[in-house]
Amino acid sequence: MVKIINNNNPEIVLIGATSIGRDLGPRVSARVKTGLTADCTSLEIGEDNELLMTRPAFGGNIMATIVCPNHRPQMSTVRPGVMESKLKDEKRIGEIEILKVEFTDEINKIKVIEVVKKEREEKGIDEASILVSGGRGVGSKENFDILMELADSLDGTVSASRAAVDAGWIEHLKQVGQTGTTVRPNVYIACGISGAIQHVAGMEGSEYIVAINKDSEAPIFDVADLGIVGDVHKVLPELIKQIKAI
Ligand SMILES: Cc1cc2nc3c(=O)[nH]c(=O)nc-3n(C[C@H](O)[C@H](O)[C@H](O)COP(=O)(O)OP(=O)(O)OC[C@H]3O[C@@H](n4cnc5c(N)ncnc54)[C@H](O)[C@@H]3O)c2cc1C
Repeated sequence: MVKIINNNNPEIVLIGATSIGRDLGPRVSARVKTGLTADCTSLEIGEDNELLMTRPAFGGNIMATIVCPNHRPQMSTVRPGVMESKLKDEKRIGEIEILKVEFTDEINKIKVIEVVKKEREEKGIDEASILVSGGRGVGSKENFDILMELADSLDGTVSASRAAVDAGWIEHLKQVGQTGTTVRPNVYIACGISGAIQHVAGMEGSEYIVAINKDSEAPIFDVADLGIVGDVHKVLPELIKQIKAI
């Protein structure tokens, strides 16, 4: 990457904020002596072709737009799912250039002996088209069973807020939000989730949002298409019963 950047002097270098990209991006930016804005939620081109890189800052309380005026390339990482993908357009073509890069044993300080892939029984939350998400209001690890039942009845997947993850009710892989995964399912059902800005940042791009919360003032209702004010423990069994009846 460093060799390619030094040879081609690109104005902008974008890297996916995946686990590999988050490791690679800053190491490359340090070597080419430029800055990097991590986990951007929006990218625009401003005057003089500068890249305007927007991301949450100060614990998600403000959105900061960052520029890199004095160094090139302008580098940014973006999480998968943050931006809507365009439909495939066969007319658009690009030139593919194959670059030969030599790797010698001298520069390889790490030797990959074997790659072992962790088996995932179900879809990742970023791939699910229906997500049933639980928060602190779900109350306990055992209470997540009913969310699983609802997800199963809809062919969906269970996800969670950070409060539920921190309580140990569900694994971090399932966390939606600023420090979790950004999701864009067709339907997002938020159960007992207040709608903190850091959570909303990871799910507001969902097509249709249903919120179930016993507090009618909960901020999650501001982003919901359908709001149900009620106790999840009463609403969910009824919802499952009616879905099964259909
Ligand atoms: C730097 C930073 C990064 C963060 N990253 C994330 C992140 O990635 N993802 C994330 O989710 N959070 C994140 N947070 C935490 C975030 O600020 C909130 O604390 C968290 O989202 C709250 O989770 P919650 O909505 O489940 O819990 P709470 O805010 O406690 O809300 C629980 C809700 O459940 C409702 N409720 C209670 N009982 C019931 C019931 N029986 N039936 C129906 N409703 C009920 C309550 O009315 C309440 O609205 C981050 C915070 C910081 C500072």
